[in-house]
Order: sequence, then structure tokens, then C-alpha cells
Amino acid sequence: MRKDVRILLVGEPKVGKTSLIMSLVSEEFPDVVPYRVEEITIPADVTPEKVPTHIVDYSEAEQTDEQLFQEISKANVICIVYAVNSKTSIEKVTSHWIPLITENTDKDSRVPLILVGNKSDLVEHSSMETILPIMNQHSEIETCVECSARNLKNISELFYYAQKAVLHPTGPLYCPEKKDMKPLCVKALTRIFKVSDLDNDGILNDNELNFFQRICFNTPLEPHALEDVKNVVRKNTMDGVLNNGLTLKGFLFLHTLFIQRGRHETTWTVLRRFGYDDDLELNQDYLFPGLKVPPDCSTELNHNAYLFLQSVFDKHDKDRDCALSPEELQDLFDVFPYMPWGADVNNTVCTNDQGWITYQGYLSQWTLTTYLDVQRCLEYLGYLGYSIIAEQESQAAGFTVTRDRKIDLQKKQTQRNVFRCNVFGDVASGKSGFLQAFLGRNLTRQKTIKEEHRSYYAISTTYVYAQEKYLLLHEVFPDFDYLTDADLACDVVCLVYDVSNPYSFEYCTKVFKEYFTDSRTPCMMIAAKSDLPEVKQAYGCSPLEFCRRNKMPPPQTFTCNIAAEPSRDIYTKLTTMAMYPHVSQEDLKSSTFWLKASVGASVFAVLGFAVYRVLLKSR
Ligand code: GDP
Ligand code: MG
Repeated sequence: MRKDVRILLVGEPKVGKTSLIMSLVSEEFPDVVPYRVEEITIPADVTPEKVPTHIVDYSEAEQTDEQLFQEISKANVICIVYAVNSKTSIEKVTSHWIPLITENTDKDSRVPLILVGNKSDLVEHSSMETILPIMNQHSEIETCVECSARNLKNISELFYYAQKAVLHPTGPLYCPEKKDMKPLCVKALTRIFKVSDLDNDGILNDNELNFFQRICFNTPLEPHALEDVKNVVRKNTMDGVLNNGLTLKGFLFLHTLFIQRGRHETTWTVLRRFGYDDDLELNQDYLFPGLKVPPDCSTELNHNAYLFLQSVFDKHDKDRDCALSPEELQDLFDVFPYMPWGADVNNTVCTNDQGWITYQGYLSQWTLTTYLDVQRCLEYLGYLGYSIIAEQESQAAGFTVTRDRKIDLQKKQTQRNVFRCNVFGDVASGKSGFLQAFLGRNLTRQKTIKEEHRSYYAISTTYVYAQEKYLLLHEVFPDFDYLTDADLACDVVCLVYDVSNPYSFEYCTKVFKEYFTDSRTPCMMIAAKSDLPEVKQAYGCSPLEFCRRNKMPPPQTFTCNIAAEPSRDIYTKLTTMAMYPHVSQEDLKSSTFWLKASVGASVFAVLGFAVYRVLLKSR
């Protein structure tokens, strides 16, 4: 909302502009008035809308046209004053003042106008008959009012209307010619309806309406008030009320009614609460609240944000199959201005047999976005209405900024839940297969992926000592010239070579020597395509020997060319290395260490799913 309001009074000489201002300020009619009073400022606390308000007078006798034009362009609202007993002053409203103002203001940001008929004490009848046609012709006229500076009638009302015209303009909401809300306003209210329809059944039931009322207006609705509202909608629309709740049609009807009855501040309160600015765009402050992420720290969603995202998933998984069909996904992102997830997301996270993103895959993708681009994730949560529905200060409340990695290393423990593994390897060494296998896809399944839908990331969960952790795999482009800082900064490194290609191992040694010899990042050698016959690598020493010399665990054989789902052991190992980078390679080799880690994995993978099923059933 605006920080202050600037009201300009114009009109023919002697209609009573100066008197109106002086009457407002001194609460009595001044017998003698100057041509013009200096600009006055009314402090915020004495105005009805609690905004500082400047009132500016105009006098043809004292001011040049140039000065008038300047004042017009500075004003937020202009009162065109006429005297109800002077025909000429009324005629001049349309023949002179409205065109003059139009010429001196921006086409796109038209200032609202208020027609003020002063000296109502001098006549018996009202000037409204003449004024209403003018109002109908000029949509920029917000309202009209008759008043009298002499007996102080409607003086404070006049300035209140002026303030309201600026703070809660009807312009963006309503088209007077069509007698209907404008498309952008309908769009915003539709999004608000969808966000507030917590169970996504297309109806705001009493619970949802009460919640809506509380978050927008901070007060609960009286039980009979709810019934009254529904009755009004019932009477005036065909299907505005269904199953004793408000449909989108009813919701929109209600707001049209508010606006038509001059209560558009109600609609504005709702719009602003949901993050909209005066142009009905979502506010930058709403979408991008400041969230500072120092270097060497990463970003994760907290429990509260996961709960919210889970509820969003639930409300869109209509068939309860724990996956989002293309239609369900479309519906979920209906509150976004664009579709945020492309087809590559289906190859970044776990999907079901139909290739649809599963519950787990859905949360993984949110985790990935949070890790890689927290600003984008803030924006997305804003579209979903996180801060409003979860009743948080801002979207930023959904995130945790983790402790500096260097401190984690010093203290030998970490609270983090997301670990990044960068996967290096020469062209065609099997990196993509390694990423896709993490999503449970064997080679046959991988071959169905279209080139334009492939992803350089894969993210899913693993269980380390019974704790669920996210492992984010990133396939690094093999050409050294394209390496970025992000390609080198990670928690664990995979070096992939193809056992059937004698020239693939050397690349791994190059990467290691160039970037990781002295780094404290743990590295793991992957002997990929182990289903193929192994050949001797064209390099000075064998991979096993290379690993031994460089204090790496021995190469891990890996293949995704199998009939079943690829094994997840290797990914659990990588996560464990990422979590405990200080644990010596000897410990990592010991079988009990791995056993503990992987037993946890299978037990909880099953449990996690069962828990989710139970949650669904209980609803
Ligand atoms: P301005 O030139 O538009 O600023 O008009 P003024 O405020 O100087 O008023 C012009 C004349 O109209 C003065 O003699 C005022 O006393 C008189 N006047 C202003 N407002 C009213 C009103 O509400 N009723 C009556 N009867 N006279 C008014
Ligand atoms: Mg004057």
C-alpha cells in the first residue's frame, strides 16, 4: 500500500476550494479566505486510513498553468470542485477540467478523480442528475459527493473518499462499463480461491471460510454471518453455493458485490494479504524475502515446509496413488504464472511405472531446487501461498541455512540432510547410467529417455544409520574448459570409468590429480559397465593400485544393465562418505560399517512408504 496520499483540489474560481480545506482543518467555516492556502499535511494517526495525507489547493489568480500542470502530475487523486448553484462551474468540469487532467497525466497510470459539488447549503435539490451521466462517461471518476464548507456537511467524508480512491482504487479491480471485475482481478482471486481451498474440492467449506476470514481479517466469522453470506450468494447466483460451501463462482460474485457496493477495500485487503500489489502483480517482497546464504553454507527445507509441501501433494493426488499424473501436476501448478517443472524433472527424481513423479520424487525435486537455487524456491513457495497457509512471517521461514561446511568438518559432525555428489568421467563412461540407476532405472528403462528430456541431476533419499538423507548426484560435463566452481564444490566425488574401454580410466586420474589430490573431499572410483568383459586400462598402474596409492577405497564395480532395479548400496556408501568425510578409509572398508548403514536403508525405505500409506488411509 502507498506510504502517503496527495490530494489536489481544482475547479473554477470561487467554487469554494480554499474554504473546503480551511473548514476541514479548523472545523469551522472561514468568513475570509485567501486565494490559496499553502499545502497542508495531515498526520497519519488522525486520518481514517492511517496514512499521512497532503492536501494541495489551487488558485488561478496566484498560479501559472505550468504550476498547475506540475501539481496535476504529482497528485494521487484530484478533486474537481464545482458549486452546485453555478451551471458554468458544472459545465467546466467536462469542457475544461477533465480534458486538462487527461492531457497532463500518464495514460497508463490515470489518477482517480472525485467530483465535488460544494455549497449544497444554497440549493434545495441535488446536482446528481447532471453529474451521474458525466460519471458514466468517465471511468476515471471514482465517486462524487455533495458537500458544504459553510455548514461542514460531508467535509471529512470528501477527504476520506479521496484517500480511499488512492489506497483502494477501483480502477484495477472493476470495469464500470462492463459492470464486472477486470480479468487480472478475476485471475488473482481465482488463485486465492485455489490456495485457500485446502482439500481442493472446488468448494470453500465452513472450515476453509473461517480460516480464510481469520488470515485475511484477523477475526473469526460469527456463525450466522457465514450463513448470511451464503444466502446472499444463493439468492443471486445459480451455483455459487454447493454442498453448503462457496464455489469459485460464488466467491467471485461476492467480491463483485463488495466492489459494486463501494466496499472494495474488502477485496483489496484479501488481495494484499495474498501478496498482490496495486497492479495486481505479486509483490517482490512477498516472493523474494531477503534470505542470506553465506559461502560454504547450503540451503534446506525445514520440517514445517516439508509438511506444507506434503499437504499440497495430498490435495492434488486425487486418485491417491502416491504419484502425480500429468493432469494432477498441471492442477498443482495452476496457481503459478508459468509451469515450473519441465519433462527433465521426470528424469531427475523417482517416478512410478507410468513415469509420473512419486511422492518421494516430488519432495526430492523441492529439495533439489532449494539446494541449487533457493531464490527460485522462495518464489515457488510464494505462488503456493506457503507463508499464508502455514501462517509464517514470510516464505523464508521455510528454509534452514546450514552451518559452514568447514565447521562441520572441524566438529566432525553435521546436521545437514542434503549431500552433493559430483560425478566425473570421460565421454560415454557411464555417468548418466549411474545417475539414472539411483532413480531405480535399469539400462532398458534408461534407453526410453528422450535426449531433450535428460537431466544432469538425480536426487533421491538414502538411509544412513536409520536416518533419511538426500543424495544429490550431478553429472559434470567432461570438458575441463567448462568446469565451474559448483562442479568442484561438493561433499563427495565419483570418478567413473568404463571397464570395457581401456582409455577411460586416464580421465579419472587427470581429474583427481588436477582437483582433488589435496582437497578434503572424499573420492570414490566407480568401475562402470561391469557386466561387460573387463580390459586392461592403458595407464601406468591399475585402478586398484591407483586407489591404494591415493588412499581411496578400491574401485566399486557397477552396472545398470540388469533385469531388476539396480542396487542402492553404492549410493548409501556415497552418502555415508559425504556425512563422515573424516572417517578413515580403513573404517570405510570395514564390512560392519557398511552393513549398519545399509540395513537401516532397506528397513526404513519400506517403513517410510508404509507410514505414508497409513496417513492417507486415516484421512
Ligand atoms: P475558491 O476560489 O474555489 O478557493 O473559493 P473560496 O474558498 O475562495 O470561496 C469563494 C466564496 O464562496 C467565498 O466567499 C466563500 O465564503 C464562499 N463559500 C465557500 N464555500 C461555501 C459553502 O459551502 N457555502 C456557501 N454558501 N458559500 C461558500
Ligand atoms: Mg481559493
